[in-house]
Amino acid sequence: MSPIRSSLLDKVPWLQHGFGTRYNGAWTAPDRTARLHQVHAATIVTVTVPGHHGDGDALLATSPELWLEIRTADCVPVLIADSRQKRVAAVHAGWRGTAARITAATVAEMVRTHGSRPEDLLAAVGPCIATCCFEVGEEVASHFPAHTVRSGERPHVDLAAANVEQLKKSGVPLEQIDSLCRCTMCEVDVFHSFRRDKALGRMVSAIAIGPA
Ligand SMILES: [Zn+2]
Repeated sequence: MSPIRSSLLDKVPWLQHGFGTRYNGAWTAPDRTARLHQVHAATIVTVTVPGHHGDGDALLATSPELWLEIRTADCVPVLIADSRQKRVAAVHAGWRGTAARITAATVAEMVRTHGSRPEDLLAAVGPCIATCCFEVGEEVASHFPAHTVRSGERPHVDLAAANVEQLKKSGVPLEQIDSLCRCTMCEVDVFHSFRRDKALGRMVSAIAIGPA
């Protein structure tokens, strides 16, 4: 099984990307990959070289052939490309990062520092724990917009929808947002799920400019 691709991001000829499954391990070129120590916050790190770049949850790059890697197992991986200016970003948005609006902050950083226009951005929201499985307490639910919370005996949060909302509110056109709608907890044979397995398996999602 190859990493899962977004048909929307596939339309950009210079773009490489994928959302890893439990079968892919570290599938990017290790000597051309930038990583972070993910801490569930909203810190965005712009990188120009491979390697470890300290604490943070979103990577941004304008350099060709540099993979930006995010590791998840239930949290939301969001991959963003500026189709006009050849810039890429990879976001790790767990519930805390989503509540801290890290995806919106990443778009804002692309606009502020790199001169991107939201209408040129394409974004893919990858496999994550979906509403069916993300049961939370009232305290966690209170951090999310009402339309992303399904109420009941216990609330369920739609993290993917919350990130789509952040992209929309940042000015990314809805037709340029691809939400893959795959649940990491339901699809036992495909994905790692931290909540289901209580294990350390993580999936690698990554994006890069130029040939892989
Ligand atoms: Zn599910």
